[in-house]
Amino acid sequence: MDKLHSSKGVRKTMGEHGLHFQKSLGQNFLTDVTVLEQIVDAAKLDSDTCVLEIGPGAGTLTRELAQNAYRVVAVEIDKNLIPMLSENTAEFDNVKIINQDILKTDLKKLFKEEFCGKTVKVVANLPYYITTPIIMKLLEENPGISSIVIMIQKEVAERLTAEAGTKAYGAITLSVNYYSKPSFVCLVPPDSFVPPPKVWSAVLKLDVLENPPVEVKDEKLFFNLIKAAFGQRRKTFINSAGNFSGIAFDKEDIKKVLLKLGFSETARGETFSLVNFSQIANELSDLNL
Ligand code: SAM
Repeated sequence: MDKLHSSKGVRKTMGEHGLHFQKSLGQNFLTDVTVLEQIVDAAKLDSDTCVLEIGPGAGTLTRELAQNAYRVVAVEIDKNLIPMLSENTAEFDNVKIINQDILKTDLKKLFKEEFCGKTVKVVANLPYYITTPIIMKLLEENPGISSIVIMIQKEVAERLTAEAGTKAYGAITLSVNYYSKPSFVCLVPPDSFVPPPKVWSAVLKLDVLENPPVEVKDEKLFFNLIKAAFGQRRKTFINSAGNFSGIAFDKEDIKKVLLKLGFSETARGETFSLVNFSQIANELSDLNL
């Protein structure tokens, strides 16, 4: 049995390297073989695929990825983990470890240098304290990512896949669905990790879209409408959008557009779908013509 596939084995290896789990860096290492297999299956890797892994930790997932992909580049912020991680992945000549903060990484440069412009799949058991900034960086900067398979907190997975009008639905749901098509892979209990986190987790797959599912004339306005709607989600859309400093249209303009599109003037933004937000943004843009 692989020593990294049990809590005892991971704790022992950490101890031998004089390491402690850094809670502040979200260090909960996956030991559950079934979940590892589900992640690798969902990523649909082959001997041609390049993988970017974020936060390889002890290298448990990295080893699985290396066995199934052409090349794996793993970005880990914690320099103390690097010797153990290098040791645990030493038998694979297709793994490169980079000691860096993913949020400060120039992805375009990294992809050009490491993947020669090939399409890349991202696979990661994310550090939960920065889940949203990492997902949005990958989707907004996208230097050639075809899919993202991520372990995240169950509540965040519910938000990314939520339906309009539900409590879990928010600005992040719409942003992620603008750039990708999320699908649920599996639920993961706390005891699949060492140390176990306080919350349940879930694996999601985001298939990155070549083009957004809606046509938007002014992306800045579109995203500002979303921000406004969920910044004050209990207010009517007319009030939250009309009071938002980044939106140049007044409440009368917004009311005119809502009524033209057949919405009630008391509708809240949290009830609007991605298509609805694009319709409202495009109608508002047309008022300027
Ligand atoms: N991939 C390993 C696994 O599945 O067992 C570890 C996952 S653990 C949840 C998250 C990892 O991300 C940790 O190794 C942590 O040090 C690393 N990490 C935290 N913040 C990071 C950042 N900003 N950039 C890169 N790695 C980071």
